[in-house]
Amino acid sequence: MTAAHVPGTVRTRAHVSGLVQGVGFRPFVWREATSRGLSGWVSNDPAGVVLEVEGTADSVSSLLAALRRPPAMARVDEVRSESRTPTGEPGFAVRSSSMGGARLTMVPADTATCADCFRELHDPSDRRFGYPFLNCTSCGPRFTIVDSVPYDRSRTTMAGFPLCTDCRREYEDPADRRFHAEPVCCPVCGPSLQLLDRSGTPAPGAPLAGAVTVLREGGVVAVKGLGGYHLAVDARQEDAVATLRRRKHREDRPFAVMVVDVAAARDLCEIGPQELALLTSPARPIVVMERRAGGGGAVAPSVAPGSPALGLMLPYTPLHVLLLEAFEGPLVLTSGNASDEPIAFQDADALTRLPGIADAVLLHDRAIRTRVDDSVCKVAHGRVVPIRRSRGYVPGPIVLPYDSPQPVLACGSALKNTFCLTRGRHAFVSHHVGDLDDYSTLRSYLDGIAHLKALLDVEPTVVVHDLHPDYPSTRYALDLPDVELVGVQHHHAHIASCLADNAMAGPVIGVAFDGVGLGTDGTAWGGEFLIANLAGFVRAAHLSEVAMPGGDAAARQPWRMAAAHLDAAYEAAPPELAVVARHGRRWEQVLTVARAGVNAPLTSSAGRLFDAVSSMLGIRDVVTYEGQAAIELEHAADPTETGSYRVPVSDEPLARVQVSSLIRGVAEDLLRGTPVPVIAGRFHNALAGIVLEVCRQLRELHGLSTVALSGGVFQNGLLLRRCLDGLEADGFAVLTHRQVPANDGGISLGQAAVATALLRER
Ligand SMILES: [Zn+2]
Ligand SMILES: [Zn+2]
Repeated sequence: MTAAHVPGTVRTRAHVSGLVQGVGFRPFVWREATSRGLSGWVSNDPAGVVLEVEGTADSVSSLLAALRRPPAMARVDEVRSESRTPTGEPGFAVRSSSMGGARLTMVPADTATCADCFRELHDPSDRRFGYPFLNCTSCGPRFTIVDSVPYDRSRTTMAGFPLCTDCRREYEDPADRRFHAEPVCCPVCGPSLQLLDRSGTPAPGAPLAGAVTVLREGGVVAVKGLGGYHLAVDARQEDAVATLRRRKHREDRPFAVMVVDVAAARDLCEIGPQELALLTSPARPIVVMERRAGGGGAVAPSVAPGSPALGLMLPYTPLHVLLLEAFEGPLVLTSGNASDEPIAFQDADALTRLPGIADAVLLHDRAIRTRVDDSVCKVAHGRVVPIRRSRGYVPGPIVLPYDSPQPVLACGSALKNTFCLTRGRHAFVSHHVGDLDDYSTLRSYLDGIAHLKALLDVEPTVVVHDLHPDYPSTRYALDLPDVELVGVQHHHAHIASCLADNAMAGPVIGVAFDGVGLGTDGTAWGGEFLIANLAGFVRAAHLSEVAMPGGDAAARQPWRMAAAHLDAAYEAAPPELAVVARHGRRWEQVLTVARAGVNAPLTSSAGRLFDAVSSMLGIRDVVTYEGQAAIELEHAADPTETGSYRVPVSDEPLARVQVSSLIRGVAEDLLRGTPVPVIAGRFHNALAGIVLEVCRQLRELHGLSTVALSGGVFQNGLLLRRCLDGLEADGFAVLTHRQVPANDGGISLGQAAVATALLRER
């Protein structure tokens, strides 16, 4: 009698879709099936994974339930099952792909060293003891090494490392945790480390120990990591950090620090449960946290000058684990470039550019296919605040509220740029590309688009761009042949991004506060209240406009915005403030030109309002990086301050928030000698008060009680907390970003979501 005739035997075929290839899903199914005594098989197919299982009804349904709890890197979107006639076939087989030319469904993101690999790394009896490139089906490089699809070793940068006998045995054994781990390797067959001195000559001795010696002596070491080169120095040595800052031409922007483990992180920062979860997550982002009182002294002042916060990350590759353990202290680990250039990731390029900055280069012979920067996030008011979404998350999909009828390419913005491709219900936001005005960044943008299109096997027929005609991303879109173009207003894209980030379609009251983006009326918007859904928006209210003297120059020189705002608030008779005296005749000259309307576009920007107040308070007149004046204003604010400034909202039809009264409030406090932290606190409270008041009015008018907060200004933790406190206490549901940043890094997702909504309405 065969199993087919055993009463109660059932056979089920199941299709599993989601991120289920290249993540150890088939061996997972093999283990789950064999442990339940089920027979059958599992295989990849173009839609994901397909399997058939046969056995008792209870075991089969228990296996189907287990498919919903997949291994670490996998993600199951859907399991569809249908019953089949039992065949009595014995055993359980892992079949090789029956792909028939179809592409891999999704490429996994790079994932931090798993606990099993971490244990092997430290086990002297293991053949991979101390090996800086060990990995398995649950961890290791993925997106950064994939050259093309279908995803297998021959199409990754591991192609040049043929498997040794031992590694092949593991690779082919479904019971082994390295079954079909494409980057699997060992000291016999895999990549190896090398240390070069300043002249590019291999240094004698063990590379890792040599690098540690240079670091201990206060030197700068370029370290080839997962998605690019980092520059490392001892975070405790002020001279070393200052040297790195000088060589990188990076005047003030805070450096991130890598620490060996959670205990070392707790020495430096206050770590809450959510921050701990992020810090130790498989994506291992940089988490920006409050420094611990008395603990900040453990890093040199130049690491994050004047900042009460510190960005920390844990080692995410075996190489980083070994380096941090050997060094026995915190390391500054910052992207390997001079500021404003993209991170170096190709050896030849790195060895040309980095010797001027680094005293030694620790590198290896596994090539990086796609440069990927570290991801950055923080936590505010119990919510995750993404700041940069890149390594560890990309190219994971974001699930849209509904299917995209055609594949869409969204080209993004200009600064902190990403692009986005859609395929069905999934939006694939690219890695952080950066500021497109740099030529090499633009090249990497073009390569990135071509690469992701090939990996996802999509050819977009609809291309979305910002309304600004001079953004390189817009020019790229307008140049593409044979596609349908859709222009999306910048702040609508911000709100749509926040909606898509929450898998919602609206309508909502959207509050978009950022630097500037081109409005539909040709002025520079940036302090906007929109009634919006994914398909469209109405500009319902905004901050009152002032001139932006010198255009782009105003973004680099916040004092120009102080001049413009004080001029608007007081006309010809500004109060005698230090900021006016500091700038002498230039103040009058700038205003004369602005009043004549020369190179002084009008803006309602909230970001530029922060700039103005930062300069008025003497915090920052000139910035060395985008957002610096606003960030320092946030840090200066006394979070316990409860005072505010009264700000009227003008009448219909388009409500204007009169920020001149806010500026007068700040100026009068300054003249009264009110301490800067108090004024900065009141300014934040006043802006949150504006948000609440305008949202209340719009709720009355439109019957909407959901608010979406987006735009780079909402990365300000204090402002975000104040807004959430006020809005939630008043009964609003508040959407904030969860996966992509509120800044322009999230614009491409919003653009894609808008185009998808428009296509559906046809
Ligand atoms: Zn592993
Ligand atoms: Zn091997």
